[in-house]
Amino acid sequence: LQAQLQQTQKMESLGSLAGGVAHDMNNVLGAILGLASAHGEHQPPGSPTRRAFETIIKAAERGGKMVKSLLSFARQNPAEEQELDMNTILREETSLLERTTLAKVRLEMTLDPALRPIRGDASALSHALMNLCVNAVDAMPDRGTLTLRTRNLDSGWIEIEVGDTGCGMPEDVLKKALDPFFTTKPAGKGTGLGLSMVYSTVNAHHGQMEIQSEPGLGTRVSLRFPAAEPSRNETGALPEGGTGPSQ
Ligand code: ADP
Repeated sequence: LQAQLQQTQKMESLGSLAGGVAHDMNNVLGAILGLASAHGEHQPPGSPTRRAFETIIKAAERGGKMVKSLLSFARQNPAEEQELDMNTILREETSLLERTTLAKVRLEMTLDPALRPIRGDASALSHALMNLCVNAVDAMPDRGTLTLRTRNLDSGWIEIEVGDTGCGMPEDVLKKALDPFFTTKPAGKGTGLGLSMVYSTVNAHHGQMEIQSEPGLGTRVSLRFPAAEPSRNETGALPEGGTGPSQ
């Protein structure tokens, strides 16, 4: 619990820091990009100076992508809450990724048709699941199986599992995996913000996140969320302002 608390505080302070810095950083990058493009254009194509300007532009563009991730990382609180069927979100997410990311792996989906809804922010949750799927696929360069599973837990919570048969994580990587900016991927590929963003989203939804990983065998990330109370519409019993059974 202590570790979880520390992680939450770390995320919160990083979130507000990130939000503040990202905005100013955008202006800085805009100036670099603008000047480098304007001056680069006047250099002869293929010349060393032109290539140097092109490198500056590429680096600034990469910086821009990182700023974008930082901004979405800073948005920690669910922006919009509604009752959600996570099976639908998973189906939508996988059909979006089907032709690109998921084309390289085998997909096994076991979705509980009776899965209870949760309350939350659809776009934040889809983004989190997409991050997990991308990580899983990255971990399986030689193909493998991505498993997506949903189920109701007895406790009134639901569980979503994203499993892969990829490289897995040794203990030292697993320990740091949630840390913002921790990545084992080559520069330009990983930002190290994926799992920390997933963690923030889960936390903002009062959920839990667990990662099990075996080097050489694969990884399984389990997300658990409290199921939504049945809505008034569903029960049809409680008029506005009416008194329901107390908890
Ligand atoms: P990024 O994907 O940009 O590196 P993440 O925060 O998503 O950032 O992940 C941090 C690190 O955790 C990754 O670089 C990788 O080493 C490890 N990791 C995450 N997911 C997996 C997975 N499914 N299998 C193996 N390693 C993983």
